Amino acid sequence: MQGDDDAKLKPVLEPAASGRAKCRGCARAITRGELRFGERLPNPFAEGETTVWFHPLCAAYKRPEALLQALRETSETVPERENLERAAGFSAEQRRRPRIDGAERAPSGQAKCRHCHEPIARGTWRIRLVYFQDGRFAPGGFIHLGCRGAHFETDEVLEQVLRFSPDLSDSDRQELKQAAGS
Ligand SMILES: [Zn+2]
Ligand SMILES: [Zn+2]
Repeated sequence: MQGDDDAKLKPVLEPAASGRAKCRGCARAITRGELRFGERLPNPFAEGETTVWFHPLCAAYKRPEALLQALRETSETVPERENLERAAGFSAEQRRRPRIDGAERAPSGQAKCRHCHEPIARGTWRIRLVYFQDGRFAPGGFIHLGCRGAHFETDEVLEQVLRFSPDLSDSDRQELKQAAGS
C-alpha cells in the first residue's frame, strides 16, 4: 500500500550538524559532529515527514532492522561498526528485545509484571518496556528483573538495560548487576 513512501523513508547515518538534537532512544543530547542515525517517518501531526534521531548504539538496540539497513547502505565511515552490528543483531534476533528500556526499583507494589502477571514488589528491580509508535516510544509496562530470561529468551540483557538507565548511580548499577546475578 505504501510502497512508494517506503522507498523515500530510508534511514540515514550522518554527522550531526548541530548539538541540539536529542536521541529518541535515551533522551540525551547527540554531540555535534558525532555520527547520528536518522529515521524519516510520516509526520503524525501534519503533512509530510519528520526525522527522528538516535545515537547509533541506541538505534542498534531499539531500531535494529532500520539501523542494519543504514549500515548496509551508508558511505560514511562508521566508528565501532562491528559493535553496532553485534548489538543490532542481538536485538533483532527476538521480537521483544527492541522493547527493552532501562531498569528501576519499583516505587510501589501496584504494577504487575507483563510476563508472569504477578505484582512487582515495592523496592525490587523491574525492567521498563517501551513500544515504538508514530516515531516515539510509548510506555509498555514492566517485567520482573528475574523474568527477563523467559521474556527475552536470554539473561544477557544488562548492557542494553544499563544503556537506557542514565539516571542510575554507580552504586545502583552495581546493585542491579548483583540482583541479576552477574
Ligand atoms: Zn541515545
Ligand atoms: Zn514476572
